[in-house]
Formats: sequence, C-alpha cells, structure tokens
Amino acid sequence: MGALKVAGAMDEESLRKQMEEIDKLNSRLDDFRILKGAEVNITAEGNLDLSVGLLKELEVVLAGIHSGLRASKEAITKRVIKAMESGLMHILVHPTGRIINRRAPYEIDLGAIMETAKELDVALEVNAFPDRLDLRDVQIKSAVDKGVCLVLGTDSHNRNHLNYMRFGVDQARRGWCTKRNLINTLSPSELEKRFDI
Ligand SMILES: [Zn+2]
Repeated sequence: MGALKVAGAMDEESLRKQMEEIDKLNSRLDDFRILKGAEVNITAEGNLDLSVGLLKELEVVLAGIHSGLRASKEAITKRVIKAMESGLMHILVHPTGRIINRRAPYEIDLGAIMETAKELDVALEVNAFPDRLDLRDVQIKSAVDKGVCLVLGTDSHNRNHLNYMRFGVDQARRGWCTKRNLINTLSPSELEKRFDI
C-alpha cells in the first residue's frame, strides 16, 4: 500500500482484483473495451506511489500531487517533471491543485511542465470537478498555444460525478480548447495507439 491514502484510494491488492474484473468484462463485451487505469500519487521524491510492475500493467496511468503542497515552486516543479520522466504516466491530473474558495494553487512552473509534457507526450488534465476546474482558462489557452495535449477528467468518486463532464467542456472552451487538443475525442484505435496498448 502507498504511503498516502488518496480519497477513496485502493491498495494494490484491490487494484489487481479490479483489473481482473475488467479483463473478465472485456472478454464478454463485443464492441466495447474498458481500460485499466488508476490515479497515482506523486511522492515528495517525485516517484509514483505504486509498484513499477503494476504501473506497467495499467493501460492508463494518471498521476498528481496530493501532499507537500507548500513546498517551493522549484521543488514541486522538479517532482512533477521527474514523475513525467519516469515514462510510466500518461496524464498529469489537476496540475495546479487549486480548490476554489478553499485552497490556492500550489507554486508550480507551468511553462516548464508544459514543455516537458509536450516533449514526453504526457497530457494535462482539465479537471471538471466544480470546485477544481484545474487547469484554469488562461492556462488551457497557453497549453493549446504550445500544442500540449489536454484531457477532460471528472475526478469522479462515484458515477454521479460523471455528470460534471459538462463543466469540463465549458472550462475547456473558455480556454479556446477544441476537439483537436483533447485526448477524449480520439477514436478508440487512436487512443490505443497513443497509450500504446
Ligand atoms: Zn487527485
């Protein structure tokens, strides 16, 4: 088990069980494929808080910072870049960590993050959760201008949260993001190619 329990986090054993269930379902589904994925914590050292073996078995790895949010801009930027450089993550979630009216964004050099994301083909999330909306509009615009891939995510902790997708779409549009900039709009085969699965 990881050092930090992210809200609703699973230990490795539960994750494995879930992956087995997905395999079973996929073998029964004709025209639909459920991907195996998880959101993983980026530790203070910039490592992904899950065994490398399991990370490699997952088809889509999302990662983000959930602790040590008061570290310096330099330290946080370094942590995230190191995590991206592991080659084990596909998506950086809620890239600034803000929670509207509750928590200011942590210090992070988004320019440097975007540069690395583009170079290493890591997508940045536009988190649709109503009190996150992270990236924010001007940051989305900047990502679009730089040619960085974005992905809409609802940060769902239950299926009702999937309804938040519309807030993500609105947020993305505010940042001049179009279909072209989003992973969500790829066809299944393009998505499989992108994630190398
Ligand atoms: Zn998270």
